[in-house]
Amino acid sequence: MNSVVFARTAFLPSPACGRGAGGEGTATRIVNDCRDRYYSTVSTQEPSVVVNEVYASIQGESSYAGLPCVFVRLTGCNLRCIYCDTEYAFYDGERRTVTNVADQVRGLGIALVEITGGEPLLQKDCVVLAQRLLNSGLTVLIETSGALAIDTLPPGVIRIMDIKCPSSSESGKMDWSNIDHLTSRDEVKFVIGNRDDYEWARQVIKQHDLPRKCSILISTVFGSVPPKDVAGWMLEDKLPARFQLQMHKYIWDPKDRGV
Ligand code: SF4
Repeated sequence: MNSVVFARTAFLPSPACGRGAGGEGTATRIVNDCRDRYYSTVSTQEPSVVVNEVYASIQGESSYAGLPCVFVRLTGCNLRCIYCDTEYAFYDGERRTVTNVADQVRGLGIALVEITGGEPLLQKDCVVLAQRLLNSGLTVLIETSGALAIDTLPPGVIRIMDIKCPSSSESGKMDWSNIDHLTSRDEVKFVIGNRDDYEWARQVIKQHDLPRKCSILISTVFGSVPPKDVAGWMLEDKLPARFQLQMHKYIWDPKDRGV
């Protein structure tokens, strides 16, 4: 597995956002904006992001599933889904300049890149990173929960919006105005944990006329509802959506990181 994972260093979120406190040296910049709320150790005014890991793998989800892809996982998340499999990205990360991250991505020589998290849109310079990667001629995906505004992203970015179903415990955080900003290039995803989630997703799809707006993905919470049940419900309803499994969890051990 050709994976490149950067060493992680602990960092402290801003006390203004309610998560502890820490001392700061002369090179430390406190970012009070809660959309980018970490102590910075980068001593330059260059755009920068806190990065949990960068690695090459096979894209496991979305319409791009199966393709080689570089993943840039940014640190921090404003949600706490009960099935979250990337809790390690909540706090651990290293602040790096956008230039440094973009150089690493280009160096991996893969045409597809996904910016993910955590919730990447918590960091305002995520937008700068996305634009920099687009300028390099890469196809840029971003996976976001839909709880933060997506219209800040450059139009060339393909937004994959993971609309949280009730069993995640975070469906109430959705910013529904994001639906208005989706285009035919974008995708929405529903991760189904049980029959109630499925019926909720079906209602959201109908209510917001999603098939006319973008692609729709349906997947399951890994290890919960049997995939064949969800596939059967979709067939019964002739749901205009693409069923998907998290391919990387079948290629590698589901608990593996950096894949
Ligand atoms: S939005 Fe993603 S990273 Fe954040 S808690 Fe939910 S599953 Fe985990």
